[in-house]
Amino acid sequence: MDSQFKKQKIIETLKAVSPKDIDPNAGKLFAYIYNTGESEVKEIGYEAYKMFQEKNCLDFTVFPSAIFFEKELTKMARGWMRGGDSVVGTFTAGGTESILLAVLAARENYFKSGKQGQPEIVAPETIHPAMAKAAFYLGMKLVKTPLRSDGKADVEKLLSTLSPNTALVALSASNWAYGVVDPISEIAPQVKKQGIPVHVDSCLGGMVLPFFRLNGQSLPDFDFSVDGVTSLSMDFHKYGFTLKGASLVLFQNSEYAKNSIYADVSSPGYVFVNRAILSTRSVGHLAAAWASATWIGEEGYKNFADQTAKAHDTIVEGLGKLGFQKTTPSEKHILVIHHNQIDLVNYILNMKKKGWILHLQKAYPQYNIPLNIHLTISPVHIQVANQFIEDSKQAIEEDSGLSIPKIQSNPQEFMQKLTTGETDSSILPLLIDFIPQDQANEMLKQVVTQWFMP
Ligand SMILES: *Cc1c(COP(=O)(O)O)cnc(C)c1O
Repeated sequence: MDSQFKKQKIIETLKAVSPKDIDPNAGKLFAYIYNTGESEVKEIGYEAYKMFQEKNCLDFTVFPSAIFFEKELTKMARGWMRGGDSVVGTFTAGGTESILLAVLAARENYFKSGKQGQPEIVAPETIHPAMAKAAFYLGMKLVKTPLRSDGKADVEKLLSTLSPNTALVALSASNWAYGVVDPISEIAPQVKKQGIPVHVDSCLGGMVLPFFRLNGQSLPDFDFSVDGVTSLSMDFHKYGFTLKGASLVLFQNSEYAKNSIYADVSSPGYVFVNRAILSTRSVGHLAAAWASATWIGEEGYKNFADQTAKAHDTIVEGLGKLGFQKTTPSEKHILVIHHNQIDLVNYILNMKKKGWILHLQKAYPQYNIPLNIHLTISPVHIQVANQFIEDSKQAIEEDSGLSIPKIQSNPQEFMQKLTTGETDSSILPLLIDFIPQDQANEMLKQVVTQWFMP
């Protein structure tokens, strides 16, 4: 095969392989994709990525550009997070890795201070699963505490859960499920008095909430301006709008940050010093994140935050006329809605037929939170808000053939049908709720293993 022909074949396959993938630029997704609606932001990132892709963060003495980009990103980030000159940062591949490093730092800090016993993380129920995953990977225990009815951490209940084994308190700004900022300024100073570090998971809100505030919206304090906050994670690949594979974990100072570094001089091979979890990493992601963030700049981020807020308000108003209500007092990057009259399963399945991907979240009766739909709002949604409302109007009238009572009558059967694709995966959160958690976890592992069998 001559190489031109071979190349053409590969391109054809690349195009043919994903007919069912949702177009990431169409604005029809309300998760996974954070889209500005402008292509230049990404193009500058791709250009930087190409220029630096082959270079390796593994040895930053050979590729000092890696140090330059990381320092510059940290400077931007700590400014927006109102941290002083002592705040240092580590670039990672994503929020999960940032959280793993923050948890590792807390665990090492715990043992260094002479404490014994299995170290614990105390966090409200809304803490992202990445925190549970970090506890699982790092041999720690996650202790979850109750919420208030607005979806924020219950301060008293959290503080009374602290014990001599608490290595870290983790809070969110904002949390994913309800889009609300935990009462961080009421909690962190109290936790500090007991010598316990506090991590703020701002993976979701980190690159949008500071700009809401700069635009004049009132917001609770959640960053390094709050006494007691020792680390903070923020994703550039979410509201930073950079290419995927970009997050930052910030530490209060370099002394504390050292707890997250792995160094090993014992090998007969090379001297091993890793600031992040992976060893070999492309400088490309770092360069791309720096290029896009610099292209956008503070004014650009303020502008995008403003568009996000406007898209939120337009959708809230339009859906409000159809009887939907805001379930939680989320900040405007997130919208959580419910409806007292219609069947939400029927609605989301009808919306899916129109190309919209919506996310169901289970009810939380103990906090009076009904079954609801979660939307992550991006600037691109301003372009599609009216169509979304128009389609919603039709979708609540149509019959998808499936409803909540039908699923409730035999959840196990619908779960089985997931394997074959007969059950639409968007109803999974509802299904899971009818099955005991341990059993559901095992079933899920079984299903996805099937899906990936070559
Ligand atoms: C997205 C998210 C994470 C995890 O980030 P990944 O980049 O997907 O690893 C953690 N916390 C919150 C609140 C998030 O929204």
